[in-house]
Amino acid sequence: SLELVGLRMAYGDVDVLRGVDIAVPAGSTTCVIGPSGSGKSTMLRGVNRLHEPQGGDVLLDGESALQLKPDVLRRRIGLVFQHFNLFPDHTALENVALALRKVKGMSKADARELAAARLAEVGLAERAGHRPRDLSGGQQQRVAIARALALEPEVMLFDEVTSALDPELVKGVLTLMATLGQRGMTMVVVTHEMGFAGKAADQVVFMDEGKVVEAGDPAQLFSDPASPRLRRFLSEVL
Ligand code: ATP
Ligand code: MG
Repeated sequence: SLELVGLRMAYGDVDVLRGVDIAVPAGSTTCVIGPSGSGKSTMLRGVNRLHEPQGGDVLLDGESALQLKPDVLRRRIGLVFQHFNLFPDHTALENVALALRKVKGMSKADARELAAARLAEVGLAERAGHRPRDLSGGQQQRVAIARALALEPEVMLFDEVTSALDPELVKGVLTLMATLGQRGMTMVVVTHEMGFAGKAADQVVFMDEGKVVEAGDPAQLFSDPASPRLRRFLSEVL
């Protein structure tokens, strides 16, 4: 399980997260929605300590993740961004294998074998020898997801992984995330894809101005939002 408890974050003097509480039970999917600038990315960066929280805590299976060394923490919590950050001069296979060698200290042969298996799982067995520029955006994003999964994280965080993709490529990536969720991965998915949130989420969290405004069952939250702020947001995006 992953739990954010009163998480506070700032950039300089500007408070961006003002006490965020989110509980993600093991094996469940939480989708986070909210307007631009509401603090969704900042929150994921805090969970993974790419930016250090000012206060509150992140609990991983009940243990304070803020007590862990950042590299240990990042091995246990995988993060995939909108921009996939693949090494341009390496093939898909090498991109995954390099992460395994660096993070898990695997031998070259073992890393390549496991990388090939992981790429096959995301439907890219035939593309393993291609460099990022010879892959579609959706395929590149699936390589990035395969690379994160290869490290066997306990929790996966996704930050708008489909926003930079052409519309026809979005579905493949959403399907992959939905499958991961069905297989029992514990996930936090920041997304603008309300259809995905409605179908794949066990819980939807609506953030605005650095706070959780409303959280709950997707069907209920979308059909009968309690707060005027969420009602307005949904009327703008749906
Ligand atoms: P979007 O939907 O556009 O991705 P978001 O909900 O992810 O938005 P954040 O990126 O977390 O929002 O930004 C929250 C606030 O923090 C915004 O006001 C933003 O301008 C500010 N912010 C984000 N990153 C930085 C930074 N590196 N330095 C200073 N301020 C930042
Ligand atoms: Mg963001």
